[in-house]
Amino acid sequence: MHLRDKLYIGGRWVEPAGAGTIDVAEAATEEVMGRVPAGEPADADRAVAAARSAFDDWAAVPATERADWLSRLQEGLVARTTEVGTLIAREVGMPLSMATLIQAGVPAVILGSYASYARDFAFEEEVDGSLIIREPAGVVAAITPWNYPLYQLACKVGPALAAGCTVVAKPSEVAPLSAFVLADVAEEVGLPAGVLNVVSGYGPVVGEALVTHPEVDMVSFTGSTAAGRRVAQAAVAGVKRVTLELGGKSASVVLDDADLDEAVRATVSQCYLNAGQTCIAWTRLLVPRSHHDEAVAIATKVAGEFLPGDPLADARLGPLASRETQERVQGYIRKGIEEGATLATGGPEPPAGLDRGFYVQPTVFADVRPHMTIAQEEIFGPVLCVIPYGDDDEAVEIANGTVYGLHGAVFSRNRERAVAVARRLRTGQVDVNGGGYNPLAPFGGYKQSGLGRELGRPGLEEYLEVKSLQR
Ligand code: NAD
Repeated sequence: MHLRDKLYIGGRWVEPAGAGTIDVAEAATEEVMGRVPAGEPADADRAVAAARSAFDDWAAVPATERADWLSRLQEGLVARTTEVGTLIAREVGMPLSMATLIQAGVPAVILGSYASYARDFAFEEEVDGSLIIREPAGVVAAITPWNYPLYQLACKVGPALAAGCTVVAKPSEVAPLSAFVLADVAEEVGLPAGVLNVVSGYGPVVGEALVTHPEVDMVSFTGSTAAGRRVAQAAVAGVKRVTLELGGKSASVVLDDADLDEAVRATVSQCYLNAGQTCIAWTRLLVPRSHHDEAVAIATKVAGEFLPGDPLADARLGPLASRETQERVQGYIRKGIEEGATLATGGPEPPAGLDRGFYVQPTVFADVRPHMTIAQEEIFGPVLCVIPYGDDDEAVEIANGTVYGLHGAVFSRNRERAVAVARRLRTGQVDVNGGGYNPLAPFGGYKQSGLGRELGRPGLEEYLEVKSLQR
């Protein structure tokens, strides 16, 4: 049992203002595995005051020294890789070896990348007699979701600290525990007081208190489009800088000359990563009409390899993170059947033999029409929609035909042709022929998938104001 009864504010573990707590459920057993404070607006106030009073000194620390602090945080996380991997496998339901690699390993890599940027970035430059200075934006509220909890926090804390900002982090109520581990590391390495603060609690309570706080200069939000819209509206009242990383409905476009088996296998695997609780999941598989039935047969076979089971025993497909999300996904599967899509495999009932845990069957819908709800809305579970198309133009039109624009994929034996189609997709990232994750490549959404970019140099620039001095 992970019991956390204090909040990390001003470099110390302090009593929360109220007595409320939030239980954290283990995805595979439904049992309470942890408890954190349900912070209140008074806690947000204290944390913002701590971040504010730390700001001037932290902003004045030379960037190379801020880089050293980030390297220490990185080392502290690396030392806890097994602990964090297990924690998040239990909270979120991701299979253990994958969770250890992605949920625990990659956040440390991200912090390391921002140590490098802090060392190398040109914070000042001369432009035709003007001195252009890039200064930290100020106090940042970092609000994160539950699906990749530490990763999303690292994507904000890394660039914010590198830039010279101070941070109040508000982790998701569903998976808050790894944020406390990051605070443990900050305390252990002696990060200056107030540079990083962690306040757990509910979004509409602590989250909104941070977003509307007059002393918060910037809000960096990752989560659903619905909550992101609300956060942006609240932040704009104070004319705060806002970045939003929101939902997706990404398409994997398989061109008619692609290796169908390889492309479908890659798409199903990516769609089912973290049981589909992934903002960049390729949930729409677009295939030429003539290849549709064969693609469905391959997808069904691959889905059958994703046997649901205990994430700690490294089953291929873990449970979802909560009852709420399980029921939501089951509702979408029912909706797909009602709307006339063909259920090729899976379904709304829990997988056989798993009557405990928030499991959902690996599901494939065939003959999906682009306007159907399951082809338009983010489901956030292991549900793949196979959509047939006529020619490349129609494929691009369908791929671009949702309110989202986060990610995507194109497969073709002709790389140039695939790249040409990738250029036409209105999304922040596209993987060509399975091209892998790059922690230095900017990431973010077009359209309602977000505002601004995380990762890489653009991720750092989001946390910087630009000042021009004419001398
Ligand atoms: P959510 O929007 O419910 O919550 C995200 C965070 O916002 C939580 O910490 C929550 O407490 C807080 N919050 C909620 N309402 C708030 C409010 N009114 N004011 C301030 N804070 C508030 O999202 P979730 O269910 O935790 O996560 C799933 C969603 O996140 C999916 O839509 C997914 O696509 C998206 N996501 C996007 C990315 C990306 O980088 N684009 C990455 C991962 C997840």
